[in-house]
Amino acid sequence: MNHPVDCPICDQAGECKLQDYWLSSQHELKRKRTERVHKPKAQSFGETIVYDAERCIMCTRCIRFCDEVAHDHVLDMRERGNTNEIVLSPGRTLDHDYTLMTEHVCPVGALTSRDFRFKARVWFLKSAPGVCTGCATGCTTWVDFDPRYERVHRLRPRDNEAVNQYWMCDDGMLSYHRFHEDRIITGRVRGASGVSEVTRGEAVAAAAQVLGKVDDGKLGVVLSAQHSSEDNYVAALLAEDVFATNHIYLTGRPAWKGDDILRHPDANPNRAGALAVAGRAPADMDQLARDIESGDVQAVLSLGPDTDASEAALAPLANLAADGVGPGAHVNLTSRAGRLPRAASVVVPVPSVAEMSGTFVNAKGIAQTFRRAVAAPGGIVPAWGALLEIGRAQGWDATLSRLGDVRDAMPRELPTESEAAASSPA
Ligand code: SF4
Ligand code: SF4
Repeated sequence: MNHPVDCPICDQAGECKLQDYWLSSQHELKRKRTERVHKPKAQSFGETIVYDAERCIMCTRCIRFCDEVAHDHVLDMRERGNTNEIVLSPGRTLDHDYTLMTEHVCPVGALTSRDFRFKARVWFLKSAPGVCTGCATGCTTWVDFDPRYERVHRLRPRDNEAVNQYWMCDDGMLSYHRFHEDRIITGRVRGASGVSEVTRGEAVAAAAQVLGKVDDGKLGVVLSAQHSSEDNYVAALLAEDVFATNHIYLTGRPAWKGDDILRHPDANPNRAGALAVAGRAPADMDQLARDIESGDVQAVLSLGPDTDASEAALAPLANLAADGVGPGAHVNLTSRAGRLPRAASVVVPVPSVAEMSGTFVNAKGIAQTFRRAVAAPGGIVPAWGALLEIGRAQGWDATLSRLGDVRDAMPRELPTESEAAASSPA
């Protein structure tokens, strides 16, 4: 009776259960003729959530989510009847690591996410099955994107009993910003006069040229726990078949704060997948630094923007790149800026996770595939495709050409996709 029915300006319109019930069961004008009860609107609950008490139907889902899943009794209900509202515990804000799930469980537009508010209408969005890149839990997601602008607007949990049940953490929900921010979409080559932008094709040619000068067995190949199993598999295959090297390393984002709900201390989605396809136990970045300094490694090919290497361990890699595309080069394949591309002499742009399909294996050993949501800018191709181009320039006769070929060639002892990962859009 007191609901404002402000659907045209409400973020939940298009996915609101109350709107659905009105349409299916009532479908007529409001019967209330007197002034409705007014309550607080656009009330800040914290950095992520805004509360509109007039739209609240007092279902208490948000309270129960905080109590039962986040284990933090930060929300409660006050008053009775049509004056009741959801309130914060005295002196608190909604500030645990799962605040955006309160918006996710809210069936109406009472709790809205500051990140998504007024950015898109849900009927313009499409959804692609994804996997969160925030940590080794690998929460199963829907990637909601606007196909008109090739832009991802949010991530949502995709129900998967075996991995994340129905939830995601705030950092994972907001990790889609990395799909569009700090992007590298053109090639970069370091020369005597500094770093210049080149086309993707020129960057691949420069990478092939410099790596062609490296002695057999002297190339260091750095796999990435942030990249798909397919990317890592082709990098490991290239190391063995073309450069005859045993110098394989693995890096990724540094460890972060885990918890006993969902978040894994390893902030990378695919360490297990990279290890499974490496074909041997990769060394760490400290070992790479020692191998460069001893001359065992003359040049480096690396995947991804992020590294857990210390500044001291990264220095020899940066020194390799300092002279431009000389014999001691560092070629990096990345979708965005980071510490590895900053220490590279050649940077080859590759798609973000939202712009490609692939496989991640989480810390429990469950393999999950994700599908391309939006188009990659400028015709850039996944790292496994760019690596094939670099290899073919050295005369590699690999028969792989499509994603399916790469998946078929990957080691059979890899975990297969969990059946539990399959579910349908909410
Ligand atoms: S989940 Fe939404 S509608 Fe339900 S009590 Fe909380 S704010 Fe109100
Ligand atoms: S727990 Fe890890 S995988 Fe899940 S949403 Fe958070 S960051 Fe992403």
